[in-house]
Amino acid sequence: MQFGRLQLDLVRGPEFRLDGGAMFGVVPKVLWERRFRADERNRVRLATNCLLVRGDGFVALVESGLGGKWGAKERDRYAIDEKTTVEGSLRDVGVRPADVDALVLSHLHFDHAGGATRLEPDGRAVPAFENATLYVQEEELAHARSPHERDRASYRPDDWEPYARAGRIEAVRGEFEVRPGVTVVPVRGHNAGMQAIRVESEGYVAFYFADALPTTAHVPVPWIMAYDLYPVDLIENKRRLVARAAAEEWLCVFEHDPQVPWGRIVGGRDGERSVEPVAGQDPARRSET
Ligand SMILES: [Zn+2]
Repeated sequence: MQFGRLQLDLVRGPEFRLDGGAMFGVVPKVLWERRFRADERNRVRLATNCLLVRGDGFVALVESGLGGKWGAKERDRYAIDEKTTVEGSLRDVGVRPADVDALVLSHLHFDHAGGATRLEPDGRAVPAFENATLYVQEEELAHARSPHERDRASYRPDDWEPYARAGRIEAVRGEFEVRPGVTVVPVRGHNAGMQAIRVESEGYVAFYFADALPTTAHVPVPWIMAYDLYPVDLIENKRRLVARAAAEEWLCVFEHDPQVPWGRIVGGRDGERSVEPVAGQDPARRSET
């Protein structure tokens, strides 16, 4: 998609499943299951939709998906489906991993950072994007290195430490323009150090909400996940961002939505809003589920 002077492409990574109750927090199942069908283990199917931004002299990839460093136990627990990989999706749009010079991660949970590295035959994790600098909030990196019991299971040092060892992590503080038109914006709520990504060119704005708005079903402001560490803060931030997204017609990316990866939020009041999908690559997948 041409987007002002930039080119945007959706880059799909592997799909997986998480418990539906955990994805929708205090929202009763009778409400969320109208939007997501649960399997026999009460899990819902989720995507890892990454965003590729190409501009004058740069190739930036937002998020990296789950990657492939998984054992049998985790593949079963999360129903990891690697029919689609970030590497394959990049190839479809003519990009090699070595072409990526900026890897922007919203935060370091495994479903966002897992694809940042890959395993060598000897079992060592190495950067999957050998020429990229990894951009993450300093607060998130510090937390990932000494997590809390509540979120320890979401962090795997092999996802980011190979970049640190190579001197290629840039831990940023606050809003920061990673590449011309590509700006990271801290959004507290899912956790303390998560950042969203705003892409702007010639008046167009795209916004990558990451886990602040993981699927189109999470557009209503109180529909947040049980994983969120600071729910009240998240609700305040969502209220502000979703209203702006609707008013300014942002192209919104929904990282975990298996059916509508990007679209525009329409409607004026919370609870009455919906998403108009944008025709992305691979529209045939929409009819699934
Ligand atoms: Zn996530």
